[in-house]
Amino acid sequence: MKYDDVKDSISQVLISHEELDSKLDELAAQISQDYADVDNLLCIGVLKGAAYTLVSVTRRMSISTPVDFMSLSSYGSGMESSHTITVRSDLTTDVAGKNVLILEDIVDSGYTLNWLIAELKRRGAASVKVMALLSKPERREYEVPIDYLGFTIPNEFVVGFGMDYNDHYRNLDFIGVLDPKVYAN
Ligand code: 5GP
Ligand code: MG
Ligand code: MG
Repeated sequence: MKYDDVKDSISQVLISHEELDSKLDELAAQISQDYADVDNLLCIGVLKGAAYTLVSVTRRMSISTPVDFMSLSSYGSGMESSHTITVRSDLTTDVAGKNVLILEDIVDSGYTLNWLIAELKRRGAASVKVMALLSKPERREYEVPIDYLGFTIPNEFVVGFGMDYNDHYRNLDFIGVLDPKVYAN
């Protein structure tokens, strides 16, 4: 979907389709360069939000990489992630000895990534690095290293490019601020 399809629910376009495209090109080029001589790379994404980011970055890479997904539930409402994580659907790959690159949509409090990095190390990953399309540093409660970052954004609830409100708006081709009237009542 494009802006015109949802303009009544979006108060601001934060990152346009074109800006996303060129940032994804940049990130993929940098990752491809850094991992060119690294064996056993595995790119993983956390469903559902990071699916768009993972596919968009890996298809732009110039090196071959396996991909895998994990679904985590954080038992939250539409807008907050509660701090209890359970694995709803696990990776199908044994990460022991793998150089794992996590591709995330957004780092907010940092809790999810903090948990995931520890879990992958516990399973024996040789290295764990992180690419995040977006970061909201004002909201950080758990420090997480972001090795590759797309954009730093203000403390606003955003949707699009994988990010949802009640499972909608993920398929926007841009990132926008959800108009508060959508969740006011
Ligand atoms: P964290 O564990 O860092 O607090 O939250 C991470 C997850 O919360 C993200 O992967 C995403 O699913 C969700 N999240 C955090 N901020 C936003 C936001 O502004 N919009 C949307 N749609 N989801 C968000
Ligand atoms: Mg996510
Ligand atoms: Mg969500």
